Order: sequence, then C-alpha cells, then structure tokens
Amino acid sequence: MTFFENTSNKNHESVHQFSDPTTGLRAIIAIHSTALGPAGGGCRMWHYANEAEAMTDALRLSRGMTYKNAMAGLPMGGGKAVIIADPKHPPTEEMFLAFGRCVEALGGRYITAEDVGVSVDNMRQIKTVTDFVAGLPPEEGLAGGDPSPWTADGVFLGIQAAVKHRLGSNSLTNLRVAVQGIGKVGYDLCRQLHAAGANLVVSDVNEQALQRAQAEFDAQIVSPEDILFQDVDVLAPCALGAILDAQSIPKIRALVIGGAANNQLATEEDGQRLFERNILYAPDYVINGGGIISVSLEYMGGKSDSEVRAQIALIPDRLTNIFVTADEQQIPTNVIADRMAESIVAAGTSNSTPDL
Ligand code: NAD
Repeated sequence: MTFFENTSNKNHESVHQFSDPTTGLRAIIAIHSTALGPAGGGCRMWHYANEAEAMTDALRLSRGMTYKNAMAGLPMGGGKAVIIADPKHPPTEEMFLAFGRCVEALGGRYITAEDVGVSVDNMRQIKTVTDFVAGLPPEEGLAGGDPSPWTADGVFLGIQAAVKHRLGSNSLTNLRVAVQGIGKVGYDLCRQLHAAGANLVVSDVNEQALQRAQAEFDAQIVSPEDILFQDVDVLAPCALGAILDAQSIPKIRALVIGGAANNQLATEEDGQRLFERNILYAPDYVINGGGIISVSLEYMGGKSDSEVRAQIALIPDRLTNIFVTADEQQIPTNVIADRMAESIVAAGTSNSTPDL
C-alpha cells in the first residue's frame, strides 16, 4: 500500500522515507501540518509487522500531533517519525546519528523528540548532527528532559477533571482506577493516583514493572486480557493504541476513560459507542499533551520548568470545556475535540479560540 492509497493519509503535507544500509536504519517521517509552526512530534521505534503498518502508524500519529499541538496552544504543527526496528540490526548510536541526519535534511520542517522505544540518550546523540531536536537533558530550572513525567502530570490533572465532571467528585480518594501499561508514564501516573488515595488495578506485559507497582502502590495485578474490563471508576490506557473498539467497549465497566496512550479509539465511531454507553472519554491528544508542552517549550529556548507546569495546568479546563460542549450538543467528546482542533488549525494560530 502506498502513501496515496493509505486511508490514514488525511491531507498530510508530506511523508519521507529514509534508509541507511550501513546502520540498518529504516525510518518514516510524516509531516501532517505546518500551519501553526514546524511539525513537532516524537520518534517511535517499534517492531512493525511490515512497512505498511509502519506507514499507517506514522500517518495516524502525525495527524494526532497536529491536533494535540493545536489543543495545547502550541505554535507547532504535527509530525511524527517511526523507526522500523529490525532484530538483525539492534539500535546503535550510528543508527540514531543516521536518523538525526534525516531530520536535518528536512531543514526544520520536523522537530523530533522521544517516544516509545527511544530515550533521552538517543536525543543527545541526535543533537550532535541536528538542532531540530528536543527532549534533551535540561539545565537546572529550565524546560527539557524526558517528557514522560510531564505527560503523567497532565493525565493525572485530566483524570481529576473528568472525575469531577462525570462523578461529581473533587477527590480521587477510594476511587478504583485501572491502569493499562505501567511504563514511563503509567508508573508516574500510578504514583500520583496512589498518593491521592486511589485504589489501583494494573496490568503490564513486563513482570518487573508489575512487581514494582504492587510493592510501591499496593496495586492489584490483573492479566492484559482483563485490564480493560475491571469494575473500576476510571480506566487509564497507558500502553498502546486502538484498544477501544466495537469488541471491547460493550464490556468496559469504567465510567471515565483518561490515559496517556495515543489513538486509543480504533475508529471515530468508537467515540460514539462510548458516548452511547455514557462513558466519559477524555480525548487522548488533549489529556496527554503534557509531554509535548515540555518538549515545545524546551525547543523554543529559555523557558523554565514552572512555565511548563503552568501550561499543563490548563489541560483540565480544556477538557472540561470539551465535556460541557459535548453535553450541550449531545455529541461525543472526540468529535468536539476534533472540531476545536481543526478550527484552531484553520485559523492558523494556536492563540485562536475554537469556533464550534
Ligand atoms: P513505555 O514504553 O515506557 O510504557 C508502555 C508500557 O506498556 C510498558 O511497560 C509495556 O510493557 C506496557 N505494555 C505493552 N503492551 C501491553 C499490553 N498489551 N498490556 C499491558 N501493558 C502493555 O511508554 P510510555 O512513554 O509510558 O508511553 C505510554 C503510552 O503513552 C504510549 O502509547 C505513548 O505513545 C503515549 N504517550 C507517551 C508520552 C510520553 O511523554 N512518554 C506522551 C504522549 C503519549
């Protein structure tokens, strides 16, 4: 399937494919939009079944970044890179340098950072060949570094806002929260939920991560097959995407869904399915914008971590605005969020007020 035939191609500006036989690098950089600024979005390294699957991921994730950056009020467009992991070529510094040269070749139309499978160390390597990179170790008090803790902060605040809207409660004490995936974001989210008095049910495919969550947060462990269907107040998907679909939604018992994973809805219709079941869905690209806020402010230069914190503190109000509008118009929250993001992009400035 080519880029033009791929149904995930939604008016993307351009898609770039790179290969470097010496290091085994095979990468795709998808630029969905530069209407609001350079296309910002992380680099994911993943074992894709084939090239078409990698292309679809890059297309879906880069479009998501346009919407995420618009809703976060950032002067950034949307882009994403994927590196096709290859067991025959384990990732090396040379491979990341080759990737950095690909980013450099785009002349600043795309700004890279960490995503799944890619670390702060890798960004440091990339920085030696291009300036179009963020997510680097921060100087004292300045924005920067691993975006995951910032993403977790935004998700935590977003869950509080969703709980307030759906359950009418100002507190998470004694609420039951199921967290799918306790990696970088999921672990930090669990820490905050536990500190706020929530009871945790967790799942992961990594046994060590599970043991740690059980020991530190007294979390109940369930299998990956069961985590979505727990008798909980809140479900926080923090692993991978497309987990909310026609098969899973009828069995979900949570009243609120809010988590870090990108592209949680398998299709747009799944937002309608959640709406019909009166499950409040916090649109993923709004609630998980904390990391890109950190990355963007770092890239702009000279911004402090307190400025990052202040921008992340706006996430709950943005979500509440979506929830209230969705109630008023009796339309799913994902549709409202898309309309808001599209109207900001159409206005060409991230400071515009969404027109609905
Ligand atoms: P991560 O790789 O550190 O964590 C993902 C965790 O999910 C891992 O512990 C992994 O073992 C687990 N997992 C994988 N398959 C699973 C399954 N079937 N069931 C249960 N657990 C499973 O990644 P992360 O940085 O914590 O990101 C988590 C999600 O949030 C990803 O979808 C990512 O794209 C998204 N996201 C992350 C950030 C960020 O700042 N890191 C920002 C926005 C969105």
